[in-house]
Amino acid sequence: MDFASVHRVESTSAFKDWREMKKDPEKNRVAVALDKGLLLKGILDEAEKKQDVDIYLKTHLTTIKKSGEMWKITADKNEFVAKCVIAADGVNSRITRILSFNKQRKFMGTSLYLTLTMDNFEPPEGKDGFIFILTNYGVFDVLPICHEVKFHVGSFTRNQKDNLLEKIEKLMNEDKVYSPWFKKARKTGEVQSWVVNLISPIKNPYHDGVLIIGDAAWVQEMGNMGALCCGWKAAHALTLAFIKNERFKRRRQKAWYKSWFSK
Ligand SMILES: Cc1cc2nc3c(=O)[nH]c(=O)nc-3n(C[C@H](O)[C@H](O)[C@H](O)COP(=O)(O)OP(=O)(O)OC[C@H]3O[C@@H](n4cnc5c(N)ncnc54)[C@H](O)[C@@H]3O)c2cc1C
Repeated sequence: MDFASVHRVESTSAFKDWREMKKDPEKNRVAVALDKGLLLKGILDEAEKKQDVDIYLKTHLTTIKKSGEMWKITADKNEFVAKCVIAADGVNSRITRILSFNKQRKFMGTSLYLTLTMDNFEPPEGKDGFIFILTNYGVFDVLPICHEVKFHVGSFTRNQKDNLLEKIEKLMNEDKVYSPWFKKARKTGEVQSWVVNLISPIKNPYHDGVLIIGDAAWVQEMGNMGALCCGWKAAHALTLAFIKNERFKRRRQKAWYKSWFSK
């Protein structure tokens, strides 16, 4: 099978004639790249200015347990007591594990990803958008970095024995179809990687005052927009509950949980 043409057919059939469309990039924009670091910094700066908001950066939650009506949370040397908790600690969430949410979930494997930051990448169809490359020795992606004329060149697998760095080197230096794209490419940053346990979504991500949101309740790649919407909705539902001075008694919790879904 000619994997190079598979890649090309998919991209042209999804977006019609890409070269034609590029003549009017404003009208035919297919995606927007955001700098997540800047976005989060903006949100943090705004929160810091609010009264009665305490922010604990670089603080790691180690335990969470129920003590009477309240939740007791230990995070490094700090102890917190809370009526309710929003768990947004990502795809490898410790909170879901400690609270046994994962027992009802299906483990589907562990995903590994490795990426290099590079510049001077020259694909024949142009550098816009996400490029996925399928070969018979691995799956690769080339993703533009916001603000900079640089790219992440990465590969992912579920086989822990795969040497992803070797595969990327092979793609860039030996592959007959793709190595010409990387002829002038230079590594400009460190190798980055992530390891993610793939567990099925939590059916009912709420229990006894703890609401699980974002990737923590999902599989992987809820997406930044999805995660932000979850955070906004959860905080909104919680704020309304506090304004109404609900005491989070068991029968009230259901109403709070429902309002999280409906608002
Ligand atoms: C390589 C990669 C590329 C991606 N690219 C995109 C993309 O281009 N566009 C897109 O929309 N989405 C992308 N995603 C998906 C997106 O990043 C996630 O869906 C999103 O970040 C989930 O947000 P979250 O807030 O639920 O979790 P996270 O962003 O994972 O945040 C969880 C936070 O909790 C913290 N944390 C974890 N454990 C603890 C603990 N015990 N104590 C204290 N803090 C803790 C973590 O440090 C982290 O800051 C990508 C994901 C990966 C891995």
